[in-house]
Parts: sequence; structure tokens; C-alpha cells
Amino acid sequence: MLILNRSTLLSGLLLAFLVSITAACVQFQNPKKKTAINSITNQPMNPYYSNTDTTKLFVLDEEWKRVLPQTMYEVSRLGQTERPFTGKYWDSDEKGTYYCAPCGNLLFRSTGKFASSCGWPSFFEQAGDSSVRYKKDHSYNMERIEVICGRCNGHLGHLFDDGPAPSHKRFCMNSVVLDFVPDKSPITK
Ligand SMILES: [Zn+2]
Repeated sequence: MLILNRSTLLSGLLLAFLVSITAACVQFQNPKKKTAINSITNQPMNPYYSNTDTTKLFVLDEEWKRVLPQTMYEVSRLGQTERPFTGKYWDSDEKGTYYCAPCGNLLFRSTGKFASSCGWPSFFEQAGDSSVRYKKDHSYNMERIEVICGRCNGHLGHLFDDGPAPSHKRFCMNSVVLDFVPDKSPITK
């Protein structure tokens, strides 16, 4: 019992020390110089989420099932499609950046988005070379190109060739697997 009490006391002292050090660091930090951040959105349940780490992820489906909300898991890992005109971003023209909601990978800019009447958020170009990858999809007796995240391999939607010029591409995405950060967000300054 004595040992337990001692170790508890030592842990308490160590914690107090760490808190005081952290507080000191925060005091000396100039917020205007703070540009590199690990995660823009608050996803405490998801340890794989990062807006800055581009390392490819190889995570088992059962682990994704544990850390993602159910509807996000069903689209990202099971390839399901949200109903049209129901998602958050299908008719949004707000300026900002779209990340992969399960892993935080940079996917699209609002400058690459266009107003489509299909009921899903639609883009004519991806944000970066490693943003997305493609897979042939033969499901439902259709020949389609599946779009998956370049970092976590999660399903995002499909690619069609009926988009606007000059790319003529239409990345037809599911809102539930997109994480939008507006340009005006104080965190991104
Ligand atoms: Zn991802």
C-alpha cells in the first residue's frame, strides 16, 4: 500500500511538473508564427487522422470500424453511397479545403469544385498528385472508375468524364467522407 501511495505521489508530482512546463511553453509561443498543425479538425477517437502526415496507412477494417462513425465507415470501408441531395456539401460553394474525413489527407480545393445537379459534391480536379487513386469498379453491372483516398485507400466516390472543360472530369464524392475547412477558419491562419 505504501509503495502504491508513493508511486501515486510521484505520478502526481510528475504531472504537475509537466503541466507547468507546458504552460510555460504556451506563454512563450507566438501564435502568429504557428503554421504547422497536425490536425485541423477535432477527432479524438481517430488516431490515424492527420492533415500533415502523408504516410500511407494500412489499417484493418475492424480497426476503422472502431474509430469511425458508422455512416463514415460504411461509405469509406464498405463502398456504400449516401443518398443524393442529403450530404452536407453537395450544394456548398464556400471557399476552403476538403480533406479525407477518415484520415485527414488533402483531397480537393473549393476552387476545383463546381455546381452539379447530381446531388453529390462534385469536383473537376484533385488538389495534389497523391490526393486520390483510382480503381476499376464492375459492381452493379456497370463499368465505373472508383476514386479512393491516396493515403488510407478509403472509398470516396466515382470519377466520370462529363465534367466541365478543360478537364471534363467529374469527381462525384460522398459528403460523409469529406472534411471541409473554410478559408476563414481562424485555425488555418
Ligand atoms: Zn483517407
